[in-house]
Amino acid sequence: MIALSLAEIAEVVGGQTHDIPDPSVRVTGPVVRDSREAVPGSLFVAFAGERVDGHDFAERVVEAGAVAVLASRPVGVPAIVVADVQAALGALARHVVGRLGTTLVALTGSAGKTSTKDLIAQVLRREAPTVFTPGSLNNEIGLPLTALTATEETKFLVLEMGARGIGHIRYLTGLTPPKVGLVLNVGSAHIGEFGGREQIAQAKGELVEALPPAEEGGAAVLNADDPLVRAMASRTKAKVILFGESDEADVRAENVRLTDSGQPSFRLHTPSGASDVTMRLYGEHHVSNALAAAAVAHELGMSADEIATALSEAGSLSRWRMEVTERPDGVTVVNDAYNANPESMKAALRALAAMGKGRRTWAVLGKMAELGDEALAEHDAVGRLAVRLNVSKLVAVGGREAAWLQLGAYNEGSWGEESVHVSDAQAAVDLLRSELRPGDVVLVKASRSVGLESVAQALLETG
Ligand code: ATP
Ligand code: MG
Repeated sequence: MIALSLAEIAEVVGGQTHDIPDPSVRVTGPVVRDSREAVPGSLFVAFAGERVDGHDFAERVVEAGAVAVLASRPVGVPAIVVADVQAALGALARHVVGRLGTTLVALTGSAGKTSTKDLIAQVLRREAPTVFTPGSLNNEIGLPLTALTATEETKFLVLEMGARGIGHIRYLTGLTPPKVGLVLNVGSAHIGEFGGREQIAQAKGELVEALPPAEEGGAAVLNADDPLVRAMASRTKAKVILFGESDEADVRAENVRLTDSGQPSFRLHTPSGASDVTMRLYGEHHVSNALAAAAVAHELGMSADEIATALSEAGSLSRWRMEVTERPDGVTVVNDAYNANPESMKAALRALAAMGKGRRTWAVLGKMAELGDEALAEHDAVGRLAVRLNVSKLVAVGGREAAWLQLGAYNEGSWGEESVHVSDAQAAVDLLRSELRPGDVVLVKASRSVGLESVAQALLETG
């Protein structure tokens, strides 16, 4: 945060000051919405949620040193009162970002935003001070709060943007206008909510519409392998940079393979040179994420060698994404329970197959949510792929989606005993505890709402 006086903030957000003896007192940061994070110099943003009302914590945060509260009503302590706290927070972020000389990079997509954002941050921060979205804080509140953590030193600000409908990305780009905009893919995530892939593409493409023209440095980084993303080139005045395995891509991967441990390795080609990458992350879907990160970093001036080194050293900054742990008894647990969609399920199964060569492999899978009409076919396809990849055992966890997974396996390979359908996570844990043998590899994956990380955690506790 750059230091701003309460008077300046009130003006920027169009608010009234209440109970403020000295409006020249400055907020030195951080701007927080969680009262427990308030420290001397903070501005506390009071949201009235369904369960808790931030206004109730006003006194406590001021005791902790917060300079003032951004609120929707007077609270008896120093406050800037506005009609709409969320809009005020956005206006403040927009103002601060406009004053900083920071280069903004924004990214969206159906799958891989957080993974790719973490890769971009790990590449760019070798070049210059970089601030990036922590975890998945990609909505209208998390995004401005992240932007407000940037300081005068920050050279790059990397922001994940999530879209749950038309107009969402436009709103977010209005708060933090990016110079470089990256669209990863238009998959099936949230397809039920959106009504179809074209609508998803419509919503995500708002990112490239918001970019400045090429003459002003605007750059749209688009996935050449995804037709709906590629087509977004016609919706922007920014320079278009394509990444992917396609020959037309400006930033490409050649000789893509998975090492025996399931980690992708490839030769990275950029317009200014090529270099070899072997990733520490697992799963071939990270090739696409790495190329996206490389395209962004190349556009921002980094060389192929620098980028390749950074990508080869990059780890996962976020939990439960292909977390590989070896138990003392030689059982390997792969916790990818953070989330799942058809693309990542297949990528994770392929990684499991590569890691499990010569070993017994278990795929413990739950439902992929929000697939609308495609749910049955997609679960069936995952069950079939498990058979084709010679996974030793499929444990399908949960309700009817689990039944569809099992049915796919049955139809593809007449699988009987090789696949088991259990009702919940505890049943899966009980089964695995009695059946696992030293040397087995277990993949655990499902959509966020299933919470299958409990299975991975239980397996590691009993190791
Ligand atoms: P969210 O919408 O929850 O913020 P996200 O877009 O940030 O998700 P990640 O958290 O990076 O995505 O990854 C979510 C899941 O998608 C993980 O299980 C990961 O394995 C998988 N995934 C990551 N990258 C890709 C990709 N390029 N294509 C398909 N699946 C991917
Ligand atoms: Mg995310």
